[in-house]
Amino acid sequence: MISQTVLETLRQYVPAENIRFHEPMHKHTTFKIGGDAYCFIEVTEKTGLSKLVAYLDLVEIPYFVMGNGSNILVSDRGYDGVILHIADGMTNITVTGERMAVGAGVSMAKAARTAAECGLTGLEFAAGIPGTVGGGIVMNAGAYDGEMKQVVESVSVIDRGGNELILDNETMEFGYRTSIIKKKPFLVTGCTFRLRTGNQEEIYARMEDFQKRRKEKQPLEFPSAGSTFKRPAGNFAGKLIMDAGLRGFSIGGARVSDKHCGFVINTGNATASDVHDLIMQVIETVYEKFQVRLEPEVIFLGEF
Ligand SMILES: Cc1cc2nc3c(=O)[nH]c(=O)nc-3n(C[C@H](O)[C@H](O)[C@H](O)COP(=O)(O)OP(=O)(O)OC[C@H]3O[C@@H](n4cnc5c(N)ncnc54)[C@H](O)[C@@H]3O)c2cc1C
Repeated sequence: MISQTVLETLRQYVPAENIRFHEPMHKHTTFKIGGDAYCFIEVTEKTGLSKLVAYLDLVEIPYFVMGNGSNILVSDRGYDGVILHIADGMTNITVTGERMAVGAGVSMAKAARTAAECGLTGLEFAAGIPGTVGGGIVMNAGAYDGEMKQVVESVSVIDRGGNELILDNETMEFGYRTSIIKKKPFLVTGCTFRLRTGNQEEIYARMEDFQKRRKEKQPLEFPSAGSTFKRPAGNFAGKLIMDAGLRGFSIGGARVSDKHCGFVINTGNATASDVHDLIMQVIETVYEKFQVRLEPEVIFLGEF
């Protein structure tokens, strides 16, 4: 798919050592599952990124932007395109008064910690979310009554043509675990948070409390992608799954967590097919019992 000429052009936009072929995706997802990506590009800086995106579009090479892979299930057959991996680069943070500008590769935990260090409140909810700010924006990540929508003032993106745009909060169309970027394939390069001055002790106390609640309720000792399903209107996915008798239900190495039925976990040797089949089975069983169709929050990448 990528000829020598194309590769040489890609090397004009990103350092040669950042481009790899046949990269195992289990190394880049919190499920610790996934076949190889045909081509994997480590995006470490914004320079050259607009041209790279525009070029991939021009030569019609499919690409997928990935943060920390904490909400993605990659097929056992891998991904037959280019992964643009933004988890170790674009990690700039600048705090000016109550505004904090961050790069897309900053972890949600680091963003929350930095805000706390500066005595700024609003991002405590993000402390335990194991993704990047870029992924958090796309998903409108949230927890404990907080979500990105409440604190993001503006988002910088690159469109398919390589144009750099700034989108304000309203334009982002944030909704429950969604944003405009689910519909429009923009690449997020960063955002500006609008926070408030708070009491630092209280900020740290809230962060600690949220972390404690996570540890108590979630099976953090197993690889997963967090809550596997979106919350259905007026209900809870975990409760429906438990009431359907699916606690501990397993296919291969994939299992409905005994600790929190809303989590599908990899008990050690699960394949992506195991996880996928389990998710489909859970959806069918819950629908048969309660006529509620659960929708996966996890994103499937590649062929299943
Ligand atoms: C243990 C655990 C707990 C979790 N708890 C929560 C929680 O409390 N609340 C919650 O909301 N989520 C939670 N999650 C899910 C996950 O962490 C979030 O959805 C997170 O926001 C995903 O970020 P990421 O960087 O890993 O994105 P990825 O999983 O890599 O990608 C998610 C989506 O965002 C897109 N994307 C990522 N970065 C960019 C970018 N820079 N530009 C354009 N598109 C991009 C991808 O294409 C994909 O569509 C949890 C997951 C785990 C494993």
